[in-house]
Amino acid sequence: MQTMTVSPINFPAFRCLSDFTHQTSVGAPLPDVQIRTSGGLSIPAHSSILASVSPVLENILDRPRKRSTSENIIPILGVPCDSVVAFVRFLYSLRCTEEEMDNYGIHLLALSHVFSVPQLKQRCTRALSGRLTVENVVDVLKLARMCDAPDLYLKCMKLVSNEFKAVENTEGWKFLQNHDPWLELEILQFLDETESRRKRRSKKREEQNLYVQLSEAMECLEHICTEGCTSVGPYDKEPTKNREPCSKFSTCHGVQLLIRHFAGCNKRVNGGCCRCKQMWQLLRLHSSMCDQTDCCRVPMCRQFKLRAQLDKKGDDARWRLLVRRVMSAKAMSSLYLAKRRRE
Ligand SMILES: [Zn+2]
Ligand SMILES: [Zn+2]
Ligand SMILES: [Zn+2]
Repeated sequence: MQTMTVSPINFPAFRCLSDFTHQTSVGAPLPDVQIRTSGGLSIPAHSSILASVSPVLENILDRPRKRSTSENIIPILGVPCDSVVAFVRFLYSLRCTEEEMDNYGIHLLALSHVFSVPQLKQRCTRALSGRLTVENVVDVLKLARMCDAPDLYLKCMKLVSNEFKAVENTEGWKFLQNHDPWLELEILQFLDETESRRKRRSKKREEQNLYVQLSEAMECLEHICTEGCTSVGPYDKEPTKNREPCSKFSTCHGVQLLIRHFAGCNKRVNGGCCRCKQMWQLLRLHSSMCDQTDCCRVPMCRQFKLRAQLDKKGDDARWRLLVRRVMSAKAMSSLYLAKRRRE
């Protein structure tokens, strides 16, 4: 194979080196290694520098030489010539241009992995993360998995999962389906887990909303029964029609309607009235959460307490769980309010 040699003077990788050698001017070390690329390019380099950045190259350089020639050649094949040039430049300068990342990011990641250059791997991971597209994501994913780059791998997986419809139509995905069923399975599993995580989260959020609403209803019930709000109030106080709606009026209004219904309904709980039953549950919930013994003005509070004491045995675990959840929602929202007030 015909080889060509790049002179260190013209070869950009060595500009920084020549800057460095200029300072020591006389007695500058001469290149003692040739890096051979698949295009037949020969890049002169200094073993001391290669060895100081890459432990793998250090190993190769330390190996007893089999060849009779004194020339030390390291082949770096299977990637484009120019990516090897950029790689060697990095070994000297610990820098890569954005343009090099645009053109050879994936090759540089592979090289950084093979030759164990963590600084370059980090640089590539960051650069490739910022350049992910629907078109290249499958290829980058494969590479990230092969090169053990977990951050990049996760980023790719997330993009595939967010844009799966589009990714499915890419050449990369079709190739993967035909040639790498294990990776396909891995991706599909990830999608599946993401979906069920999402469902679990939204279910939890819905539940949490319910507890927050109940805790608000408890607050409203108490303030309606002690001081009254817009149209409903305690028997010994006139509900002041002029009173401003309270801060939780949408919930409060609902509770007021329920109270008015409860007071006038003929069917009642025993007659199977759903709304009365709802009111009954709210009163029971209040009683379970209330820590005032004698002075509480919420109807039925004491009766429910007494009843709860009487049938301790029939104590219902689900009810206690509900009470705990509503109490913690109440605590959370008062913490949140206190924080907002401080801010
Ligand atoms: Zn109110
Ligand atoms: Zn009713
Ligand atoms: Zn009470």
